[in-house]
Amino acid sequence: MLEDVVDATPCCQSARHGAQAPQFAVAENLCRVVSNQWVNDEYKHLVVEAPEVALRALPGQFFHLACPPDQHGAALLRRPMSLYRVSPGDGTVEFLYKVQGLGTRGLAQLGAGDTLDALGPVGRGFALPAGARHILLLARGVGLATLTPLADLARSQGVSVTAVLSVRSAGLVMSADYLREAGANVLIVTDEDGTSQVEHVEALLRSTHATRRLDYVATCGSNRLLQLLQRVAADLEIPGQIALEQHMGCALGACFACVRPFRKQADTQDLTYRRVCWDGPVFDLQETVSW
Ligand SMILES: Cc1cc2nc3c(=O)[nH]c(=O)nc-3n(C[C@H](O)[C@H](O)[C@H](O)COP(=O)(O)OP(=O)(O)OC[C@H]3O[C@@H](n4cnc5c(N)ncnc54)[C@H](O)[C@@H]3O)c2cc1C
Repeated sequence: MLEDVVDATPCCQSARHGAQAPQFAVAENLCRVVSNQWVNDEYKHLVVEAPEVALRALPGQFFHLACPPDQHGAALLRRPMSLYRVSPGDGTVEFLYKVQGLGTRGLAQLGAGDTLDALGPVGRGFALPAGARHILLLARGVGLATLTPLADLARSQGVSVTAVLSVRSAGLVMSADYLREAGANVLIVTDEDGTSQVEHVEALLRSTHATRRLDYVATCGSNRLLQLLQRVAADLEIPGQIALEQHMGCALGACFACVRPFRKQADTQDLTYRRVCWDGPVFDLQETVSW
């Protein structure tokens, strides 16, 4: 079922990039839950049947989910969740989410046959540079959910992917199989064996680039990794993007609850302010101010 389809054009895009802004449709999609299974102690994988508008979602875009109540009540505001996978042939959209607060505890209650109200797809997704041949994804925690579909996009364009997954412990590794199926070379670093330390990850990034030149890098999920990737990518002159997570209200650019400072351009300290929901959530790596 589909309601209220509107053409949506993030208004800052044309001003910021000097080009015709992309148009995408946003709808309040009433989706039938196919499954909602635990992946480990903290994360669930939600699969829903979604209407056609939702099936047009692109990597980096997200849906604003109306979370059902749990025993402690209902979340007043919707919660943003990245597209994890879209399968137009099956008519399904998937989410990977960490159960942590009122909203996601409510989401965790959903069972097969229930209805999920998902507003979207919303936002500006990833854009691979023309001619890219090898890219690197650097993900931590829930950042995995956001970056994983980028591997599918890369494969569809014949681009090789190296994915570095940073996790607390080996038991929390997710999406490695999905990424390998998408043709990615997956490297896992963990807190428990110390390989997730910045110095080690930096050496990994530099050796990956030295072995085969990286044309683009993307990250999500960690401020520490953002700062590292900004430094290394600037040094090696690799363009990149980051998907930001920010508490938000409307997700449609109207309420300005998710405004954050950004550098006006990569090579300046002059700041401007942008809405994460509407001007992002994917932004230029070097324009992003860490938080
Ligand atoms: C574009 C986007 C995509 C996202 N995609 C995913 C995804 O794919 N998977 C996923 O698991 N998560 C994702 N998130 C994060 C998710 O939306 C949030 O974690 C969400 O707040 C969870 O809702 P909750 O009610 O369960 O927890 P909340 O009650 O919102 O709490 C979550 C955490 O945030 C803290 N918090 C609450 N309010 C604030 C505040 N105002 N300021 C700072 N901290 C606060 C809490 O203490 C807690 O640690 C995404 C966020 C964005 C913006």
